[in-house]
Amino acid sequence: MESKVVTEVSANHQTDEHTVFSNPSFVNHEQVVFCYDERTGLKAIIAVHNTTLGPALGGTRFWNYKSEAEAVKDVLRLSRGMTFKAAISGLNLGGGKAVIIGDSKKDKSEGLFRRYGQFVNSLGGKYITAEDVGTNVNDMVFVNKETKFVSGLPEATGGSGDPSPVTAYGVYMGMKASAKHKWGSDSLSGKTIAVQGVGHVGEYLVEFLAKENAKVYISDIHEEQLKHVAQRFGSEIVSLDGIYDVDMDIYAPCALGGTVNTETLNRLKCSIIAGSANNQLAHELDHGKMVMDKGIIYAPDFLINAGGLINVYSELNGYNRENAMNATQKIYDVTLEILRKSDEENVPTIIAAKEIAEKRIADKLNSK
Ligand code: NAD
Repeated sequence: MESKVVTEVSANHQTDEHTVFSNPSFVNHEQVVFCYDERTGLKAIIAVHNTTLGPALGGTRFWNYKSEAEAVKDVLRLSRGMTFKAAISGLNLGGGKAVIIGDSKKDKSEGLFRRYGQFVNSLGGKYITAEDVGTNVNDMVFVNKETKFVSGLPEATGGSGDPSPVTAYGVYMGMKASAKHKWGSDSLSGKTIAVQGVGHVGEYLVEFLAKENAKVYISDIHEEQLKHVAQRFGSEIVSLDGIYDVDMDIYAPCALGGTVNTETLNRLKCSIIAGSANNQLAHELDHGKMVMDKGIIYAPDFLINAGGLINVYSELNGYNRENAMNATQKIYDVTLEILRKSDEENVPTIIAAKEIAEKRIADKLNSK
Protein backbone atom coordinates (compact mmCIF):
# COMPACT_ATOMS: atom_id res chain seq x y z
CA MET A 1 0.00 0.00 0.00
CA GLU A 2 1.18 3.51 -0.75
CA SER A 3 2.45 5.32 2.31
CA LYS A 4 0.43 8.45 3.03
CA VAL A 5 0.74 11.26 5.50
CA VAL A 6 -2.80 12.45 5.96
CA THR A 7 -3.01 15.84 7.61
CA GLU A 8 -6.75 16.14 7.65
CA VAL A 9 -9.55 13.74 6.97
CA SER A 10 -10.71 15.62 3.94
CA ALA A 11 -10.95 14.54 0.36
CA ASN A 12 -9.57 17.93 -0.68
CA HIS A 13 -6.30 17.17 1.01
CA GLN A 14 -5.78 13.72 -0.45
CA THR A 15 -3.42 14.98 -3.10
CA ASP A 16 -0.11 13.55 -4.24
CA GLU A 17 1.62 16.12 -2.08
CA HIS A 18 0.63 14.01 0.90
CA THR A 19 2.46 10.96 -0.26
CA VAL A 20 5.92 9.90 0.81
CA PHE A 21 7.21 7.30 -1.68
CA SER A 22 5.69 9.09 -4.67
CA ASN A 23 6.50 12.60 -3.42
CA PRO A 24 8.58 14.35 -6.11
CA SER A 25 11.19 15.12 -3.42
CA PHE A 26 11.46 11.48 -2.27
CA VAL A 27 13.99 10.46 -4.95
CA ASN A 28 15.55 7.33 -3.52
CA HIS A 29 15.50 8.15 0.17
CA GLU A 30 16.81 5.20 2.19
CA GLN A 31 14.71 5.77 5.26
CA VAL A 32 12.14 8.23 6.60
CA VAL A 33 11.24 8.06 10.27
CA PHE A 34 8.17 9.66 11.82
CA CYS A 35 8.64 10.39 15.54
CA TYR A 36 5.80 11.18 17.91
CA ASP A 37 5.60 11.69 21.64
CA GLU A 38 2.31 12.67 23.25
CA ARG A 39 3.79 13.79 26.57
CA THR A 40 6.19 16.38 25.17
CA GLY A 41 4.22 17.18 22.00
CA LEU A 42 7.11 16.08 19.80
CA LYS A 43 6.29 15.60 16.14
CA ALA A 44 9.41 15.07 14.11
CA ILE A 45 10.43 13.58 10.79
CA ILE A 46 13.96 12.30 10.20
CA ALA A 47 14.89 11.75 6.55
CA VAL A 48 17.96 9.75 5.61
CA HIS A 49 18.58 10.21 1.91
CA ASN A 50 21.83 8.42 1.21
CA THR A 51 24.52 6.85 3.40
CA THR A 52 26.88 5.55 0.71
CA LEU A 53 29.70 7.90 1.69
CA GLY A 54 29.06 7.78 5.44
CA PRO A 55 26.47 8.58 8.10
CA ALA A 56 23.84 11.11 7.11
CA LEU A 57 24.60 14.40 8.81
CA GLY A 58 22.11 17.25 8.69
CA GLY A 59 20.55 19.74 11.06
CA THR A 60 17.17 19.69 12.76
CA ARG A 61 14.82 22.42 11.58
CA PHE A 62 12.12 23.59 14.04
CA TRP A 63 9.39 25.16 11.96
CA ASN A 64 5.69 25.91 12.21
CA TYR A 65 4.69 24.20 8.98
CA LYS A 66 1.23 24.99 7.64
CA SER A 67 0.62 21.28 7.11
CA GLU A 68 2.30 17.94 7.67
CA ALA A 69 2.57 17.57 3.91
CA GLU A 70 4.65 20.74 3.80
CA ALA A 71 6.93 19.34 6.52
CA VAL A 72 7.38 16.07 4.61
CA LYS A 73 8.21 17.91 1.41
CA ASP A 74 10.69 20.17 3.18
CA VAL A 75 12.55 17.43 5.02
CA LEU A 76 12.87 15.29 1.87
CA ARG A 77 14.09 18.23 -0.22
CA LEU A 78 16.58 19.31 2.42
CA SER A 79 18.00 15.86 3.13
CA ARG A 80 18.64 15.17 -0.55
CA GLY A 81 20.45 18.51 -0.74
CA MET A 82 22.70 17.38 2.11
CA THR A 83 23.77 14.33 0.09
CA PHE A 84 25.02 16.62 -2.69
CA LYS A 85 26.60 19.04 -0.24
CA ALA A 86 28.59 16.35 1.59
CA ALA A 87 29.62 14.59 -1.62
CA ILE A 88 30.80 17.71 -3.47
CA SER A 89 32.73 18.82 -0.37
CA GLY A 90 34.67 15.55 -0.31
CA LEU A 91 33.36 14.59 3.13
CA ASN A 92 32.79 11.00 4.18
CA LEU A 93 29.21 11.79 5.00
CA GLY A 94 25.82 10.98 3.61
CA GLY A 95 22.77 13.23 3.41
CA GLY A 96 20.01 13.55 5.95
CA LYS A 97 17.91 16.16 7.67
CA ALA A 98 15.18 16.36 10.29
CA VAL A 99 12.28 18.65 11.01
CA ILE A 100 10.37 19.19 14.22
CA ILE A 101 6.89 20.56 13.61
CA GLY A 102 6.03 23.42 15.96
CA ASP A 103 6.63 27.00 16.99
CA SER A 104 10.27 27.32 18.04
CA LYS A 105 9.40 30.34 20.21
CA LYS A 106 6.73 28.49 22.23
CA ASP A 107 7.04 24.74 21.87
CA LYS A 108 10.64 24.00 22.88
CA SER A 109 11.44 22.13 26.09
CA GLU A 110 14.23 20.02 27.46
CA GLY A 111 11.87 17.03 27.52
CA LEU A 112 10.99 17.45 23.85
CA PHE A 113 14.62 17.61 22.75
CA ARG A 114 15.57 14.67 24.97
CA ARG A 115 12.76 12.57 23.53
CA TYR A 116 13.90 13.62 20.06
CA GLY A 117 17.45 12.59 21.02
CA GLN A 118 16.15 9.11 21.85
CA PHE A 119 14.70 8.81 18.36
CA VAL A 120 17.98 9.97 16.81
CA ASN A 121 19.78 7.41 18.98
CA SER A 122 17.46 4.64 17.83
CA LEU A 123 18.96 4.98 14.34
CA GLY A 124 22.29 3.79 15.75
CA GLY A 125 24.45 6.45 14.09
CA LYS A 126 22.98 6.25 10.61
CA TYR A 127 21.80 9.84 11.17
CA ILE A 128 23.79 12.52 13.03
CA THR A 129 21.94 15.69 13.89
CA ALA A 130 22.97 19.33 14.46
CA GLU A 131 21.34 22.75 14.75
CA ASP A 132 19.41 24.40 11.92
CA VAL A 133 16.80 27.11 11.49
CA GLY A 134 14.78 27.31 14.73
CA THR A 135 17.22 25.25 16.81
CA ASN A 136 20.48 26.28 18.44
CA VAL A 137 23.53 24.79 20.09
CA ASN A 138 21.84 24.83 23.51
CA ASP A 139 18.97 22.67 22.20
CA MET A 140 21.60 20.25 20.94
CA VAL A 141 22.98 19.97 24.49
CA PHE A 142 19.61 18.45 25.53
CA VAL A 143 19.66 16.11 22.51
CA ASN A 144 23.20 15.11 23.50
CA LYS A 145 21.92 13.91 26.91
CA GLU A 146 20.23 11.04 25.05
CA THR A 147 22.53 10.40 22.10
CA LYS A 148 26.11 10.85 21.04
CA PHE A 149 24.97 11.21 17.43
CA VAL A 150 24.84 15.00 17.54
CA SER A 151 27.29 17.61 16.35
CA GLY A 152 27.49 21.41 16.52
CA LEU A 153 27.69 21.56 20.32
CA PRO A 154 28.76 24.73 22.18
CA GLU A 155 32.47 25.60 22.14
CA ALA A 156 32.47 25.57 25.96
CA THR A 157 31.74 21.82 25.85
CA GLY A 158 34.40 21.10 23.23
CA GLY A 159 32.05 21.54 20.30
CA SER A 160 32.38 23.62 17.16
CA GLY A 161 29.89 26.34 18.21
CA ASP A 162 28.44 28.81 15.71
CA PRO A 163 29.18 27.58 12.15
CA SER A 164 28.43 30.97 10.53
CA PRO A 165 32.01 32.36 10.36
CA VAL A 166 33.14 29.17 8.63
CA THR A 167 30.17 29.23 6.27
CA ALA A 168 30.96 32.85 5.40
CA TYR A 169 34.58 31.94 4.72
CA GLY A 170 33.48 29.21 2.29
CA VAL A 171 31.17 31.65 0.48
CA TYR A 172 34.07 34.10 0.28
CA MET A 173 36.30 31.37 -1.21
CA GLY A 174 33.61 30.44 -3.75
CA MET A 175 33.20 34.11 -4.65
CA LYS A 176 36.93 34.62 -5.13
CA ALA A 177 37.21 31.50 -7.31
CA SER A 178 34.31 32.77 -9.43
CA ALA A 179 36.08 36.13 -9.78
CA LYS A 180 39.26 34.33 -10.86
CA HIS A 181 37.32 32.40 -13.49
CA LYS A 182 35.50 35.49 -14.75
CA TRP A 183 38.18 38.17 -14.61
CA GLY A 184 41.46 36.23 -14.37
CA SER A 185 42.17 37.59 -10.88
CA ASP A 186 40.51 36.64 -7.61
CA SER A 187 40.94 40.09 -6.10
CA LEU A 188 37.65 41.61 -5.00
CA SER A 189 39.21 44.99 -4.37
CA GLY A 190 37.10 47.68 -5.99
CA LYS A 191 34.37 45.23 -6.99
CA THR A 192 30.78 46.18 -6.21
CA ILE A 193 29.03 43.48 -4.20
CA ALA A 194 25.41 43.44 -2.97
CA VAL A 195 24.81 41.27 0.09
CA GLN A 196 21.16 40.44 0.69
CA GLY A 197 20.69 39.61 4.38
CA VAL A 198 23.34 40.54 6.92
CA GLY A 199 22.50 38.04 9.64
CA HIS A 200 24.93 35.47 11.01
CA VAL A 201 26.61 34.57 7.72
CA GLY A 202 26.03 37.88 5.90
CA GLU A 203 27.77 39.98 8.55
CA TYR A 204 30.90 37.78 8.54
CA LEU A 205 30.89 37.85 4.74
CA VAL A 206 30.71 41.65 4.69
CA GLU A 207 33.69 41.67 7.05
CA PHE A 208 35.79 39.62 4.58
CA LEU A 209 34.70 41.85 1.70
CA ALA A 210 35.34 45.10 3.56
CA LYS A 211 38.85 43.92 4.43
CA GLU A 212 39.46 43.47 0.72
CA ASN A 213 38.21 46.98 -0.06
CA ALA A 214 35.17 45.88 -2.03
CA LYS A 215 32.31 48.37 -2.34
CA VAL A 216 29.51 46.64 -0.42
CA TYR A 217 25.76 47.31 -0.59
CA ILE A 218 23.52 45.62 1.97
CA SER A 219 19.83 45.00 2.59
CA ASP A 220 17.97 43.36 5.46
CA ILE A 221 14.47 43.38 6.95
CA HIS A 222 16.06 43.75 10.40
CA GLU A 223 16.66 47.53 10.63
CA GLU A 224 18.92 47.47 13.68
CA GLN A 225 21.18 44.77 12.31
CA LEU A 226 21.33 46.61 8.98
CA LYS A 227 22.49 49.84 10.65
CA HIS A 228 24.95 47.96 12.84
CA VAL A 229 26.63 46.31 9.82
CA ALA A 230 26.60 49.56 7.80
CA GLN A 231 28.30 51.42 10.63
CA ARG A 232 30.79 48.67 11.40
CA PHE A 233 32.03 48.20 7.83
CA GLY A 234 31.00 51.37 6.02
CA SER A 235 28.60 49.47 3.73
CA GLU A 236 25.81 51.27 1.90
CA ILE A 237 22.20 50.41 2.72
CA VAL A 238 19.78 49.71 -0.15
CA SER A 239 16.07 48.87 -0.03
CA LEU A 240 14.78 45.30 0.09
CA ASP A 241 13.60 45.38 -3.50
CA GLY A 242 16.14 47.92 -4.77
CA ILE A 243 19.01 45.47 -4.22
CA TYR A 244 18.19 43.76 -7.53
CA ASP A 245 18.78 47.01 -9.45
CA VAL A 246 22.14 47.92 -7.93
CA ASP A 247 24.86 48.35 -10.52
CA MET A 248 26.93 45.47 -9.15
CA ASP A 249 29.60 42.96 -10.06
CA ILE A 250 28.45 40.29 -7.61
CA TYR A 251 25.08 39.47 -6.08
CA ALA A 252 25.37 37.59 -2.77
CA PRO A 253 22.03 36.22 -1.53
CA CYS A 254 22.45 35.44 2.18
CA ALA A 255 18.86 35.52 3.37
CA LEU A 256 16.28 33.55 1.41
CA GLY A 257 16.06 30.88 -1.25
CA GLY A 258 14.45 31.41 -4.66
CA THR A 259 15.66 34.99 -5.22
CA VAL A 260 17.22 34.08 -8.57
CA ASN A 261 14.13 33.82 -10.73
CA THR A 262 12.74 35.07 -14.01
CA GLU A 263 11.75 38.44 -12.59
CA THR A 264 15.02 39.18 -10.79
CA LEU A 265 17.13 37.86 -13.68
CA ASN A 266 15.57 40.52 -15.87
CA ARG A 267 16.86 43.11 -13.42
CA LEU A 268 20.16 41.76 -12.06
CA LYS A 269 23.14 43.38 -13.77
CA CYS A 270 25.79 41.28 -12.04
CA SER A 271 28.54 39.05 -13.48
CA ILE A 272 28.56 36.58 -10.57
CA ILE A 273 26.00 35.17 -8.13
CA ALA A 274 27.58 33.75 -4.98
CA GLY A 275 25.91 33.67 -1.58
CA SER A 276 25.07 31.46 1.40
CA ALA A 277 21.31 31.03 1.00
CA ASN A 278 20.08 27.53 0.22
CA ASN A 279 18.22 26.88 -3.04
CA GLN A 280 18.93 30.28 -4.59
CA LEU A 281 17.64 29.27 -8.02
CA ALA A 282 13.83 29.30 -7.94
CA HIS A 283 13.90 26.51 -10.51
CA GLU A 284 17.22 24.71 -10.76
CA LEU A 285 17.15 23.76 -14.44
CA ASP A 286 15.27 26.73 -15.92
CA HIS A 287 17.04 29.44 -13.97
CA GLY A 288 20.38 27.62 -14.01
CA LYS A 289 20.18 27.75 -17.79
CA MET A 290 18.90 31.32 -17.88
CA VAL A 291 21.81 32.46 -15.71
CA MET A 292 24.25 30.68 -18.03
CA ASP A 293 22.68 32.17 -21.15
CA LYS A 294 23.05 35.64 -19.66
CA GLY A 295 26.77 35.01 -19.14
CA ILE A 296 26.44 35.17 -15.34
CA ILE A 297 28.50 32.79 -13.23
CA TYR A 298 26.44 31.02 -10.60
CA ALA A 299 28.55 29.50 -7.81
CA PRO A 300 26.39 26.54 -6.69
CA ASP A 301 24.93 27.30 -3.28
CA PHE A 302 25.26 23.79 -1.88
CA LEU A 303 28.99 23.88 -2.56
CA ILE A 304 29.97 27.33 -1.41
CA ASN A 305 27.80 27.32 1.74
CA ALA A 306 29.20 23.95 2.86
CA GLY A 307 31.52 25.56 5.46
CA GLY A 308 28.94 24.98 8.18
CA LEU A 309 28.75 21.29 7.35
CA ILE A 310 32.54 21.02 7.14
CA ASN A 311 32.66 22.67 10.56
CA VAL A 312 30.33 20.18 12.27
CA TYR A 313 32.03 17.31 10.44
CA SER A 314 35.35 18.42 11.95
CA GLU A 315 33.78 18.11 15.38
CA LEU A 316 33.29 14.36 14.91
CA ASN A 317 37.07 13.86 15.02
CA GLY A 318 37.90 16.35 17.79
CA TYR A 319 37.24 19.96 16.85
CA ASN A 320 39.91 22.36 15.71
CA ARG A 321 38.84 25.66 14.08
CA GLU A 322 42.02 25.92 12.01
CA ASN A 323 41.47 22.47 10.47
CA ALA A 324 37.86 23.39 9.68
CA MET A 325 38.95 26.64 7.98
CA ASN A 326 41.65 24.83 5.98
CA ALA A 327 39.14 22.24 4.80
CA THR A 328 36.72 25.03 3.89
CA GLN A 329 39.38 26.81 1.86
CA LYS A 330 39.23 23.89 -0.60
CA ILE A 331 35.86 25.25 -1.76
CA TYR A 332 37.97 27.61 -3.89
CA ASP A 333 39.48 24.77 -5.97
CA VAL A 334 36.25 22.81 -6.25
CA THR A 335 34.43 25.95 -7.45
CA LEU A 336 37.05 26.44 -10.17
CA GLU A 337 36.72 22.78 -11.19
CA ILE A 338 32.94 23.13 -11.53
CA LEU A 339 33.14 26.38 -13.48
CA ARG A 340 35.59 24.81 -15.94
CA LYS A 341 33.39 21.73 -16.36
CA SER A 342 30.36 23.95 -16.91
CA ASP A 343 32.19 25.83 -19.68
CA GLU A 344 33.61 22.71 -21.33
CA GLU A 345 30.32 20.82 -21.36
CA ASN A 346 28.10 23.87 -21.81
CA VAL A 347 25.89 22.90 -18.86
CA PRO A 348 24.66 25.07 -15.97
CA THR A 349 27.06 25.11 -13.02
CA ILE A 350 24.48 23.50 -10.74
CA ILE A 351 24.30 20.51 -13.10
CA ALA A 352 28.10 20.29 -13.35
CA ALA A 353 28.30 20.28 -9.54
CA LYS A 354 25.63 17.61 -9.15
CA GLU A 355 27.33 15.39 -11.70
CA ILE A 356 30.60 15.53 -9.76
CA ALA A 357 28.77 14.76 -6.51
CA GLU A 358 26.84 11.87 -8.07
CA LYS A 359 30.00 10.43 -9.59
CA ARG A 360 31.69 10.36 -6.20
CA ILE A 361 28.77 8.37 -4.78
CA ALA A 362 28.67 6.03 -7.81
CA ASP A 363 32.44 5.41 -7.58
CA LYS A 364 32.07 4.43 -3.94
CA LEU A 365 29.20 2.07 -4.76
CA ASN A 366 31.19 0.50 -7.59
CA SER A 367 34.24 -0.03 -5.39
CA LYS A 368 32.24 -2.13 -2.90
P1 NAD B 1 20.18 34.56 9.77
O1 NAD B 1 18.74 34.34 10.09
O2 NAD B 1 21.13 34.85 10.86
O3 NAD B 1 20.32 35.75 8.70
C1 NAD B 1 19.43 35.95 7.67
C2 NAD B 1 19.20 37.45 7.55
O4 NAD B 1 18.38 37.70 6.43
C3 NAD B 1 18.48 38.04 8.77
O5 NAD B 1 19.20 39.16 9.28
C4 NAD B 1 17.13 38.44 8.21
O6 NAD B 1 16.59 39.59 8.86
C5 NAD B 1 17.47 38.72 6.77
N1 NAD B 1 16.34 38.69 5.84
C6 NAD B 1 15.22 37.93 5.87
N2 NAD B 1 14.43 38.22 4.82
C7 NAD B 1 15.08 39.14 4.09
C8 NAD B 1 14.80 39.82 2.87
N3 NAD B 1 13.66 39.63 2.21
N4 NAD B 1 15.72 40.70 2.40
C9 NAD B 1 16.86 40.94 3.07
N5 NAD B 1 17.17 40.33 4.23
C10 NAD B 1 16.29 39.45 4.73
O7 NAD B 1 20.63 33.28 8.93
P2 NAD B 1 22.11 32.85 8.59
O8 NAD B 1 22.53 31.81 9.54
O9 NAD B 1 22.95 34.05 8.39
O10 NAD B 1 21.88 32.13 7.18
C11 NAD B 1 21.66 32.89 6.01
C12 NAD B 1 21.32 31.95 4.87
O11 NAD B 1 22.41 31.04 4.66
C13 NAD B 1 20.10 31.07 5.13
O12 NAD B 1 19.44 30.85 3.91
C14 NAD B 1 20.70 29.76 5.62
O13 NAD B 1 19.86 28.66 5.36
C15 NAD B 1 21.97 29.69 4.80
N6 NAD B 1 23.03 28.89 5.43
C16 NAD B 1 23.51 29.25 6.63
C17 NAD B 1 24.53 28.48 7.21
C18 NAD B 1 25.11 28.86 8.55
O14 NAD B 1 26.19 28.37 8.89
N7 NAD B 1 24.49 29.74 9.31
C19 NAD B 1 25.05 27.38 6.53
C20 NAD B 1 24.55 27.05 5.26
C21 NAD B 1 23.52 27.82 4.73
